[in-house]
Amino acid sequence: MSNFQNHNFLDQKALIRVDFNVPLNDSFEITDDNRMRAAIPTIQKIIKDGGSVILMSHFGRPKEGPTDKYSLKHLVPHLQELLRDTSVQFANDCIGEEAIQKAAALKPGEVLLLENLRCYKEEEKGDEAFAKKLSKLGDIYVNDAFGTAHRAHASTAIIAKFFPGDKKLFGLVMEGEIQSAEKVLHNNEKPFTAILGGAKVSDKILIIENLLERANNIIIGGGMAYTFLKAQGKEIGSSLCEDDKLNLANELLAKAKEKGVKFYLPKDSVVADKFEADANTQELSNDSIPQGWMGLDIGEEAINEFGEVILQSKTILWNGPMGVFEMDKFKKGTKAIADFVVEATARGAFSLVGGGDSVAAVNQFGLADKVSYVSTGGGAMLEYFEGKELPGIAAIRH
Ligand code: AMP
Repeated sequence: MSNFQNHNFLDQKALIRVDFNVPLNDSFEITDDNRMRAAIPTIQKIIKDGGSVILMSHFGRPKEGPTDKYSLKHLVPHLQELLRDTSVQFANDCIGEEAIQKAAALKPGEVLLLENLRCYKEEEKGDEAFAKKLSKLGDIYVNDAFGTAHRAHASTAIIAKFFPGDKKLFGLVMEGEIQSAEKVLHNNEKPFTAILGGAKVSDKILIIENLLERANNIIIGGGMAYTFLKAQGKEIGSSLCEDDKLNLANELLAKAKEKGVKFYLPKDSVVADKFEADANTQELSNDSIPQGWMGLDIGEEAINEFGEVILQSKTILWNGPMGVFEMDKFKKGTKAIADFVVEATARGAFSLVGGGDSVAAVNQFGLADKVSYVSTGGGAMLEYFEGKELPGIAAIRH
């Protein structure tokens, strides 16, 4: 496997799997172009070397084959803008005559975007014949789509077998994601603190189990905290709770104790009388939340305790908000934690923020460039931190 920066793409046609699954509004305008921007340095390096680029991506989930709504053609003008002088062409299909001809005619310095891969069911099925057709379009395969690296789809994993070892490599997005995840998981400086939040414990069980082997501190906030609190016998009122996970929560707490991992649960909450932006609120200890009231954010005491731990950390992983940060009344905890992570980073800690909602939160607070790394992959990042080898990564490495 060669290193992307050291590879010379002169006269090569690089077939790059990107993640251009960006959100569009009803007028087909891109509302968040982060994923497109992320791929630009990879494309530019190949063009600068004197190579050409064929881009393939999924885009939403077209159920019945090609539809206007799920066409990647809507992205062409913006891609052209991002790439400035580089000419961007589009093929109305990702395989077939038009794609073959346009790929063959592509000159060094040019970019071709193929139509949505998921117009074909074969993509998600990981179909070999489909992957082989795609592979014929380029001389070298570059996977730069971390967001789909946990899927063994035709373009993310299966395709790699049609390229020899020196003709398949990770792009810069993938390299950055892998490097920072490895740094946190395997080369971390201690103390290593993992901050986990979000709605459900059930989504985070495997990641907690893996982190119990590696972290010094695990901080739990968000809706998932209340299952742990109830498991400890606390009155959590009408807060979110997964009753079928109470035993498991106790097992995780016991395991943390056994391993010497400090497990921090919030001591207090901002509670509300309904799940609404205009709810009545009060701040209460988590020992006794009355029925009819639900915890929607961590309270002041929790903020202070979590902050102390974060500021002493040298490695920080943050996945999931501390409360319903989408509503003003319940965003204080998430904002405070973001500020602590930023401060710890300024003091020399390595901080990785990942998972859709925590990324949305740091972006909303304008802090994304003040942490060490913001992961582009939600599900992929979670699976990486669960300790699994992702198919998109294994396909390039082996
Ligand atoms: P997840 O996708 O599991 O990371 O969950 C993110 C969602 O959890 C966000 O939309 C938050 O609004 C929500 N959330 C965070 N804290 C709470 C809470 N205490 N009660 C209900 N929902 C919450």
